[in-house]
Amino acid sequence: MDHVKLHDKTFKPFIPYEKIISAIDGVADKINQDFRGCTDIPIVLCVLNGSIVFTGELLKRLDFPCQLVSMKLTSYEGTNSTGKVRQVMGLTSSVRDRRVIVVEDIVDTGNTIFDLCDMWAWRFPTPSSSALAWITMSWDATSRIFTFWINSMKYFILFGPPGAGKGTQASAMVEQFNLKHISTGALLREEIAAGTELGLQAKALIDAGSLVPDEVVEGMIESQFKTVKGVNGFLLDGFPRTIAQAEALDKMLAKSSEEVTGVVSIMIPDNLIMERIKHRATIEGRADDAKEETINNRIKTYHDKTEPLVGFYQAAGKYNEIDGVGSIEEVRDRIAALMQRF
Ligand code: AMP
Repeated sequence: MDHVKLHDKTFKPFIPYEKIISAIDGVADKINQDFRGCTDIPIVLCVLNGSIVFTGELLKRLDFPCQLVSMKLTSYEGTNSTGKVRQVMGLTSSVRDRRVIVVEDIVDTGNTIFDLCDMWAWRFPTPSSSALAWITMSWDATSRIFTFWINSMKYFILFGPPGAGKGTQASAMVEQFNLKHISTGALLREEIAAGTELGLQAKALIDAGSLVPDEVVEGMIESQFKTVKGVNGFLLDGFPRTIAQAEALDKMLAKSSEEVTGVVSIMIPDNLIMERIKHRATIEGRADDAKEETINNRIKTYHDKTEPLVGFYQAAGKYNEIDGVGSIEEVRDRIAALMQRF
């Protein structure tokens, strides 16, 4: 189907059918994960008319019992949003005290969804509660489809001095908890290997054991948050490394009513840092692991600039420390047991 004519307008396909189907599969998978083993019967609320097709597609894929309820809202006159949301048809069944998955079609101004929440005194999450995860996808030139559910993405911070084993432990954790591992150090090393301008600027600082500017790493993190899909959350390794970065992270997440889930700090004494990094140098061959002077500068940078984050996250009630001395498996089990609790 090349073109579709509707009244006086002609539309052409915007996103291939297969891509839409795979996006619906992804949304359904995520909802199935979030509601796995639920003992209640959640409501799937179809906001008429626009979301009928998508609700049907979604329901076919949900693998837990749920109840379909509809309502009709409009904020549109013709193709223009009036900014005022009208309830044209009320709920077909009560949703009181039930968990609700809202399927709403056109998220343009956002008026409909905000009014929907207001109407039922639903609240967007407070810092202590779970956040709303939004999934949007484009359908064609005139409409967009989205759904959201009351379950947040997780944002874990793996904290600790250089050589604490953050990178090693992160690999096991991302697999166990379906997270995306974001290591700012690894991203910077990729930039250096690719010879980009950013890489060239970062190289001298990294080789000296100093930090690269906050805004550089903040930009990298934000772009990962925006582009990575299909995970339960993120495991940040090597970020934040300064109070300014931690504040920037909070601001970044607050834009979507989200927050840091928890900090897992792997603690090892200074004498072990040098030993571990020297051992890693024989395996990974990292330039900044090669010279004792660089390692000492990294340890100093850690104490001066990064360690104050312990107090920052303690004050936020998010700091959790585990003993990083022991075998990889022992430390891994301690981290996993802690992350399980979130
Ligand atoms: P890592 O692999 O985490 O040890 O990082 C290697 C180097 O990359 C660090 O010594 C810094 O020079 C730089 N780097 C990594 N993450 C950050 C960050 N969050 N802020 C500033 N510099 C960073």
